[in-house]
Amino acid sequence: MSTHALVSPVSVTDGAVTHDVDFIRPQLRSTGLRRIVLHAGVQINGAPHLGTNVMQTSAFLLAAAARDRFGVDVGLRFGALDNAPFETRASPRTGAVYQRSFHHALGATEVERLTRHFYGDLFETLSAVTGVPYEIETYTAQQAQRAFREEFLASLAKMDRLRWVLAPSHGNAPTSHPCPRCGWSEKSGDHTELLAADLHRASFSAVCVDHGRFEVDVTPESPAYIGLTTLHRNLVKERVAARDAAALPVIVKGADWATGCRLLDEAFMTWSGSVPPPRIFTPVVLSDSGAKLSKTLINAGTADLSAETEPWMLDATKWNGTVPRYAQTLVGLVSLMLSDPRHFERGYTTREVARLISRGDISTMTTASGGSRS
Ligand SMILES: [Zn+2]
Repeated sequence: MSTHALVSPVSVTDGAVTHDVDFIRPQLRSTGLRRIVLHAGVQINGAPHLGTNVMQTSAFLLAAAARDRFGVDVGLRFGALDNAPFETRASPRTGAVYQRSFHHALGATEVERLTRHFYGDLFETLSAVTGVPYEIETYTAQQAQRAFREEFLASLAKMDRLRWVLAPSHGNAPTSHPCPRCGWSEKSGDHTELLAADLHRASFSAVCVDHGRFEVDVTPESPAYIGLTTLHRNLVKERVAARDAAALPVIVKGADWATGCRLLDEAFMTWSGSVPPPRIFTPVVLSDSGAKLSKTLINAGTADLSAETEPWMLDATKWNGTVPRYAQTLVGLVSLMLSDPRHFERGYTTREVARLISRGDISTMTTASGGSRS
């Protein structure tokens, strides 16, 4: 068995970046802000796999590193994607695909229980280990806020240009609106029509699979639910985060997001003088083929996994031990990745993760911020 320590090629930031948290520094200096809020995601449509937990652990450790290196106040905000589809069906008449989200199918109480089940103990442990406070907010709660709806309306006003940034191949960035009676909404939004829009109100017409045509009015105060494409949703969320005059927002995402974030950066430029928030991309966990671990591929049995892949790497609830021990393993692993940008700006196969853990030298590391915390 191979016993060599972690070996990574020189990263493109070599010589410019000595710790990946320094990606925050330019905007921290230019804004003069003394508080940073890191934003990361939480998926509730099934148990998290290792890649998801690596990204979230990175968020805690990056926040701790920012606090220790920059002397700023830090917070961590997780967005829980309760808008993910829970169930799907096709219209027998038109063939159009309809879906119902976790929020609409299960309700807020069950969504909260799922979030706690998948992340509660882990986040509590990571927060205790790093001293970084965190909060979790559902997409449903985010889109209900006045700021979100104002930014959504502002994006509609720029849609002539924005649509080609958010969907460069065809210029379609449809919205979807769940039927107010049953919560089902058309997946593609093909039959959703924007009737009228200004900065204060937008009216849509949509078709429910069971209840036919209905109209929705979106205003800063209206309760109408807003469903957006992935890039459009992230643009609006980041525009809302950037409104915080007291804190610099920092976006933490898996490295598979880099190409999409290129488009988000361009979307920000649609507003003159608007600066996209700093982004930090975290290492992706890969199957043997080099494809990112994906719930869909794992469930379909097409994920090309090596014999070294442990069941808990694909489903964190299968971890054979305590949650604090799991958190300690994650902290050790991500601290090793953060020890040099060349280790952080790359991906890891499950085979390599298994090898690093079997070496036994990662569990002794406790923080990623250079040991300045006791
Ligand atoms: Zn309906």
